Formats: sequence, C-alpha cells, structure tokens
Amino acid sequence: MAAQLLDGAAVAEEIKKRVAARVKELEPRGVRPGLAAVIVGDDPASKVYVGSKVKTCQALGLYSEKYELPALTTTEELSALVEHLNRRDDIDGILVQLPLPKQIETRRILEAVSPAKDVDGFHAVNVARLVRGEESLVPCTPAGIMELLDHYRIPIEGSRAVVVGRSDIVGKPMSMLLLHRNATVTICHSRTRDLPEVTRQADILIAAIGRAAMITGDFIREGAVVVDVGMNNVTTTDEVNRVFADPEIPKRMEILAKRGYTLVGDVEPRTVAGRASWLTPVPGGVGPLTIAMLMKNTLRAAEMRRS
Ligand code: NDP
Repeated sequence: MAAQLLDGAAVAEEIKKRVAARVKELEPRGVRPGLAAVIVGDDPASKVYVGSKVKTCQALGLYSEKYELPALTTTEELSALVEHLNRRDDIDGILVQLPLPKQIETRRILEAVSPAKDVDGFHAVNVARLVRGEESLVPCTPAGIMELLDHYRIPIEGSRAVVVGRSDIVGKPMSMLLLHRNATVTICHSRTRDLPEVTRQADILIAAIGRAAMITGDFIREGAVVVDVGMNNVTTTDEVNRVFADPEIPKRMEILAKRGYTLVGDVEPRTVAGRASWLTPVPGGVGPLTIAMLMKNTLRAAEMRRS
C-alpha cells in the first residue's frame, strides 16, 4: 500500500487563515504585526525566499518591509540596521536571510536581533528556552513539522523518533520539540555508523540532510511516518527515472524539460512510498509550512511584546 500524503500545503493554508483572522481581530486595537526581512547580496534563491515571505505578509494583512543590502555590507553596517529595527515599535519580527556573505559574522548578527523579535528562533536566548522547554519563538521549519504531525494526529508520545541532520536550523530544534513531546529521540549525522540500521528503528523519521533521495526504502521500517525536509534539484532524466515512481515520472519529466530541474527531497519516493504509512511530498510538504510558521511567529511576537 502506498503511503498516505501528509499535505503540508493544505495545513499551511489553514495556519495562514488562522493568522489572517487574528490579524484582523487586532486591527481595531491599532495593532498590525510587522515583519522586517533583510537580505544581503544577490543570491537568487534567497531573493525568491524573501520575496515570498513578504508577499505572504501582504496577503495575510501583516505589515512588512524588505531591506536589500549590497553584497559587500560589513558586520557593523548590518548590526546597525538590526539595532534600528530592534528599536522600532511597528516592527515585531526581524528576519535576516541566511546564508550571509563570508565577510559577515553570522553569529554576531543573529545575537544582535532582539530575542523578542527573533521570529526565526535562532538567538541564543530562544535556543536556551527551547532546550529548557519554556515558551519561546521556535525555528519555523521544525515548528511547522510539529503542526503537521498534530494535524494528522500522528502519535508522538512514547514513539521512537529518528532525526537525520543536526543543524541549528532544523535537526537540533526538531529533536528538542519531539523530546518535549515525550518521543524517544535519536539524532543522526554524517558520522553515524550504519545509518539504515538506526533509521529502521524509527516510528517517526525526519530527514533533514540536503542529499537528493538519499533515504531509500531500506532505511524505513514498514509503517513509519516519514517527513522529508530536504530540497534538492534533480537535473537529469536518469535521476528522475531512478527516484520517482511511475505515475509521477511524466509530470517530473515535463518540469525538468521546462525548467532544467525538478525538486526532490532527501527521501526517495519510489522506494519509500511503499513502506511508509505517511509521507510528506516534495514540493508541497514541509516548505509551505515554514513560511506559514514565520507568519505565526510574527503574530506571536507582536502579541507577546504587548502582553
Ligand atoms: P545542513 O547542511 O546545515 O545540515 C545537514 C545535516 O545532515 C548535517 O547535520 C549533516 O551531518 C547531515 N548529513 C549530511 N550528509 C549526511 C549523510 N550522508 N548521512 C547522515 N547525515 C548526513 O542542512 P539544513 O539542516 O539547513 O537543511 C537540510 C535540508 O533541508 C536541505 O536540503 C535544505 O535545503 C532543507 N531545508 C528545507 C527547508 C524547508 O522549508 N523545506 C528549511 C530548511 C532547510 P554533519 O553535522 O555531521 O555534517
């Protein structure tokens, strides 16, 4: 039996609807949550991400500002902008798009953002709160995955969860969130010995690696819930034939011919869909949730600052 779809796009739409409704409720009180998005340099992918974040703000009634700084911006110049945004009362969330150019000290910039406006949840204060299980602004991708699992009533307490990837943005916060919900969590990475042996223990498997279709069917316990965070490009027809299952292939070939690439996650759909009970698609799984949670975090930051 093929895995059922964990429809991240649909859950993201629901989250955004709830945010938009709450933003409307705040309007008569003169409160309009505001997000400032800062991008440094000309990375095309970063520009697309920031563009869609700002557009989503507009669609939901949030206030937004976009700052596009030149690639040669210094740490001092960027900190000065962040400090200015920290002081502004009409800005509730500050997002500095990563990665930053090499000359900028990323850690210093992330620590310059006021923890109360840290809608990405990357500031050390928010990281510490998350580890302690206290109220905090939580990184958007893992927070969105928790919403997805809850939406589909996937049992978390007592389950064996395996997270592949230990980044500060996805793997580590994901592991903490699962742990706080009483899963038994194993964190894997590039030095993990016999990875398939470990991932086959998982009731819930989260793949946040950044390697196209690396997680194949033999990494999966029959009936596992599989969440694919990865976003990778497949650029050849051979690869498309290898990673996708039959009904998907013609559609993917068309996309490949048109754009020169098609998106695939860290999970190989062809071999995993037959073993997992639930699986996120790529695209349309975790990606849309990340933006929806950024909106939710901006709203939360606005409400928390005023309470
Ligand atoms: P990072 O590169 O920061 O981390 C990747 C992790 O995977 C590392 O911990 C690394 O281990 C581990 N890893 C790499 N190769 C292997 C391997 N062969 N076996 C086991 N573990 C391995 O990536 P991110 O966490 O930022 O992102 C992961 C993926 O998720 C990317 O594809 C990214 O594009 C995507 N992403 C998607 C988002 C969305 O909204 N859908 C949001 C954020 C990310 P080690 O620490 O040992 O190097």
